[in-house]
Amino acid sequence: MLTLLKLLKDGRFHSGQALGAALGISRSAVWKQLQHLEADLDLSIHKVRGRGYQLATPLTLLDPAEIASQARACIWPVMVFDSIDSTNAQALRSIDKGVVAPFIVLAERQTAGRGRRGRKWASPFAENIYYSLVLRIDGGMRQLEGLSLVVGLAVMQTLRESGVRGAGLKWPNDVLVGQKKIAGILLELVGDPADVCHVVLGVGVNVNMQATEEVDQQWTSMRLESGNTFDRNHLVASLGMMLQRYLNRHQESGFAAIQAEWEQNHLWQGCAVSLIAGVNQIDGIVMGIDRQGGLRLKVGNVEKVFNGGELSLRLRNDS
Ligand code: ATP
Repeated sequence: MLTLLKLLKDGRFHSGQALGAALGISRSAVWKQLQHLEADLDLSIHKVRGRGYQLATPLTLLDPAEIASQARACIWPVMVFDSIDSTNAQALRSIDKGVVAPFIVLAERQTAGRGRRGRKWASPFAENIYYSLVLRIDGGMRQLEGLSLVVGLAVMQTLRESGVRGAGLKWPNDVLVGQKKIAGILLELVGDPADVCHVVLGVGVNVNMQATEEVDQQWTSMRLESGNTFDRNHLVASLGMMLQRYLNRHQESGFAAIQAEWEQNHLWQGCAVSLIAGVNQIDGIVMGIDRQGGLRLKVGNVEKVFNGGELSLRLRNDS
């Protein structure tokens, strides 16, 4: 089915006969595959008697060679999947099979894209970036400190350099424009953090997506913010270079060296928030973060630090 899509991706008309000949199948088999493309991938295809078939919107698909040619110094190998449950899940399976890190897993779509605490990440075909970078960490808990915040900063800077000037951070690792979520980050770890472990840095960025019914909170995309469509191969290359820059800084100098820059870009600095931990809620004012990336919250008259992947921040109405 995706071979057919690759023939159509230029957005030109192709006759059923030519498509059938290229694929070695009958014209009616071409017709069936077209129906599947529309139903499964939510693509719209024009069918015009005498001219053939045309994608309503031309597609640029992910291409490892194109990414490598644009990524200059960034040499992490890239695996691209047309459709996968989740790039993080695939990354974990690859670690299990002994694939040597660092490497990147990308997908055109995720059928079970995931956020924190088992939440779903909406991942339509060929519109966004679904990206997992795998790193091996050798006996250095320090290398994990604040790591998800560092990834958020790198994603935010990539968006800004690409023209989404309003991108900012929400603790611990969301990237927002105003109140709308444009990118999410999910770190997963396997192995012994005090000895040898692998960390999967999962990143989802809304790139060209213009509509979805699958997201139950305010969201946006690079296209909605700027009015432009973006070349995802170019963006993946830019993200890789930015991540490399921030990860090197983090490795050399620790999170403390990045703390101030992170705080400067925190959209909710000084805001009145509620911190949600399961059924518990703590109200306070955001003071910033500490040297390990923990949230500093003024609760009453006392400053407290909160850490952990299960915590969520919400703005309070009175802020
Ligand atoms: P937090 O608890 O820190 O506020 P969150 O509620 O945003 O985080 P995450 O685990 O970071 O949760 O992300 C999953 C949530 O993000 C989903 O429950 C959904 O509301 C939203 N979401 C899912 N897909 C997308 C998407 N493509 N773009 C923006 N938001 C999405």
